[in-house]
Parts: sequence; C-alpha cells; structure tokens
Amino acid sequence: MIDKIKSKIRTIPNFPKEGIQFRDVTTLFQDDEGLKLVVDILAERYKKQDIDVVVGIEARGFILCGIIARELGTGCVLVRKKGKLPFATKSITYDLEYGTDTLEIHVDAIKKGQKVLLIDDLLATGGTALAAAELITNAGGIIQEIAFVIDLPEIGGKQKLADKGFKTFNIVEFDGE
Ligand code: AMP
Repeated sequence: MIDKIKSKIRTIPNFPKEGIQFRDVTTLFQDDEGLKLVVDILAERYKKQDIDVVVGIEARGFILCGIIARELGTGCVLVRKKGKLPFATKSITYDLEYGTDTLEIHVDAIKKGQKVLLIDDLLATGGTALAAAELITNAGGIIQEIAFVIDLPEIGGKQKLADKGFKTFNIVEFDGE
C-alpha cells in the first residue's frame, strides 16, 4: 500500500530551483484510489485519538484538513501565509534558507485547551510545521500530533520537531531517491 501511494506522487527534478526534488502530491490527490488511501490511513489513526480540531497549513494541507476533519467530526482551521486571513490574526515569523516567512491564524480559531491535529503534505526542514505548531500552542491549543503524507528523512525535520516536543506521523518517505 505504501509503495502504491509513493508511486502516485510525481517527482519533479530541479523545481523550484536546481537541486530540489519536488514531491508533487497533486498527482496523488487527483487519483481516486490515491486520495482514498491517504484519507483512510489518517482517519483510522486519528479516530482512535482525542482530537477536537484539525489545522491545515497552506496550501496542500488545507485539502487534507477538510477531509480529515469531516471524517473525525471536527472543524478545520486554516494557517495561512501573511495577509490572506480577513479577520484579526496572531502571527509568527520564522527563518527560511534565505530570508523569513510569516504564518497567521485567526485570533478566535483555537479555543484554549483544544486538542489539535496539525496537517501538511510534506515535512522537509520542519520550519513551517514548527512555526505553525508554535502559533497554535501560543493560541492555547495542545498539539496531539503533526501528520504529513511525506517525510524527507535526510533533511531532519522530524528530529527538529521532536526536539521541541512535537510528535509526528508520516505515511511515506523519500530518502535519496
Ligand atoms: P519545511 O518547512 O522545510 O519542512 O518545508 C515544508 C513545506 O515546503 C511544505 O509545506 C511543503 O509543501 C514544501 N516543500 C518543501 N520541500 C519540498 C519538496 N522537496 N517537495 C515538495 N514540497 C516541498
């Protein structure tokens, strides 16, 4: 099953820049069997846990957030890039390889003490997920786990998140392929 999911993820060499192997989940999400496989794995795992709300990271995380939230019977909260959310926000700025980026969440999106499942498509350095997790924690949420479809283990994001006390789960890995 894992090999089947991996086979449906398209790899684009040198995108968006030289040396990056871009793992394109649009080919997985557009495939009826592929989307069902990842949704079933995540839904089965998190139905057994006590999740109050699912949070998705822009943009591919939104797709899974909506579907998994519906499967769990929870709401879906959006963490977006700066300037996209219309109401008052809390924000966090984090370092990229070159420069910085800012993520935002609506001030009233997370209730204090809510147990949160955070979702994105891919874990690389972990910088994006860590920033989103800190935003949620600062807003009073409790991260139960951070779920990804893909981990790139050689980049070390999983360890970076573990060092900050965040548990992660991923369905597939691409390791030097
Ligand atoms: P990072 O903050 O380094 O963990 O990067 C994670 C974010 O960047 C995710 O939202 C991914 O969608 C995107 N990303 C980073 N590296 C890749 C890659 N090799 N292929 C596809 N998406 C990537």
